[in-house]
Amino acid sequence: MTAQIISGTEIAKQIREELAREITKLKEKHNLVPGLATVLVGENPASQVYVGQKEKTSLALGIYSERHDIPVETTQPHLMALVDKLNNDPKIHGILVQLPLPKHLNETEVLYAINPKKDVDGFHPVNVGKLMIGEPDYLPCTPHGIQQLLVRSGVEISGAEVVVLGRSNIVGKPIANILLQKKEGANATVTICHTGTRDISFHTRRADILIVAAGRPKAVTSDMVKEGVVVIDVGVNRIGKTPEGKAILTGDVDFETVKEKASAITPVPGGVGPMTITMLMTNTVRSAKLAAGLV
Ligand code: NAP
Repeated sequence: MTAQIISGTEIAKQIREELAREITKLKEKHNLVPGLATVLVGENPASQVYVGQKEKTSLALGIYSERHDIPVETTQPHLMALVDKLNNDPKIHGILVQLPLPKHLNETEVLYAINPKKDVDGFHPVNVGKLMIGEPDYLPCTPHGIQQLLVRSGVEISGAEVVVLGRSNIVGKPIANILLQKKEGANATVTICHTGTRDISFHTRRADILIVAAGRPKAVTSDMVKEGVVVIDVGVNRIGKTPEGKAILTGDVDFETVKEKASAITPVPGGVGPMTITMLMTNTVRSAKLAAGLV
């Protein structure tokens, strides 16, 4: 069997087109423009690229976008004051503080200061708790993107054995939580594996859906999966550079061999990656609608 390739690029494009139509309608019918503020401290090149992409996508969709570039030597009180100002700005529905912050700043204090209603990343403990009890305002972007990839590819999640490799707070734990809820696009039986798991292959070989977020190239090889498995590869590993200096990326799954056994698989790049920013836009629009009492 050669797997169907689940294209995050295509599915993200579909969702962005839907969002653009929704944003136009919100403007026309309710005079409502969703607004996203991004905050970048310092000049980390990767962070600059991520923030740039978020800003560009917002503008392309018709979301009001405000970018705050702050010098690396900024102080904690200064950053907290900016978060406070954005919390109280009615034009802004989503606040995104790009991580990592420079070492002298307290990341946790900054993230916890964001009003949970504007926490479009979904990392605030209030939003983590709401997800856990099945009443989320926002789903964190990468896991939400993974769920959309499965749903929009027609993968049956209800009743499926889902195995997640990795237990980080930004991918592993939230995707496990999302897929175990008694809801549409969920209702799976979920197992989470990590470096303390005794026999990882025992679990991965049972998986109908395998989600890999380990941050290790080839953490999953073809002998670890069963025929017909659906594989979502979240990993982004930089394994070198092209002669032109462009990063060569690979996922956590041995794509070439696993695709011969899987029924469907995401590529890296072009799988989960394009979904993350798109779901940030989805959350910003949702936040605007929540603030206006439209949902
Ligand atoms: P992380 O915080 O480093 O967590 C990795 C998790 O995987 C840990 O729980 C670790 O276990 C577990 N692990 C590591 N090696 C393993 C192995 N061989 N078998 C089983 N479990 C293993 O990573 P993360 O932030 O979740 O990110 C994971 C990957 O996804 C990274 O490559 C990251 O770049 C990528 N990512 C991509 C996107 C995107 O938008 N495409 C977004 C976020 C992350 P322990 O807890 O026991 O250490």
